[in-house]
Amino acid sequence: MPAGRPPEVDSNGKAIEKCLVNATIPTKLRDFLRQHNINRSELLRTAALKLMEFKICPSCYSHDIKDNLKGHSCNNCDKWLKFKRCDLCEAAHTPTSKPTSVDGKVGCDLCPEYLAQVEENKKINVVFGDVQR
Ligand SMILES: [Zn+2]
Ligand SMILES: [Zn+2]
Repeated sequence: MPAGRPPEVDSNGKAIEKCLVNATIPTKLRDFLRQHNINRSELLRTAALKLMEFKICPSCYSHDIKDNLKGHSCNNCDKWLKFKRCDLCEAAHTPTSKPTSVDGKVGCDLCPEYLAQVEENKKINVVFGDVQR
C-alpha cells in the first residue's frame, strides 16, 4: 500500500482526480506564501472555490449547479451548496421545506401566513365532516 494520506473522495465516494498546474505569480507573493507556510495547492483550491461559489460543487467539483427557489444545489451529487431565505418571512429553506403560494406570492411552508392558511383549511374540513389528522 502506498504511503501517505488515503485518496480524497467526492460526495459519491469516488476518488477525486487531480493534476498539476503551473501558475505564474509575482516573486514577492511566492516569498510571502513561503514565509507563512501556505500550501499553494490548498490556496488555489480554496480561492477558486470561493470566487466561483455556486458555479462549481465543492464536494464533487461538478459544474452542473442548479439555482432554484430554495437555493443552489449540485445536479451531480444532489448536495445543497446554500439555501436561500424565504422572500416573505426570511426563514432559511431546508432540504425538506417547500416553496408555497401565500396570497399570490411565493413563500415557504414556515410563513406565518401559510401556517394560518393551513389552520384555516383544517377548520373548513371539520365543518364539512372531512376527517383529517
Ligand atoms: Zn456535487
Ligand atoms: Zn416563509
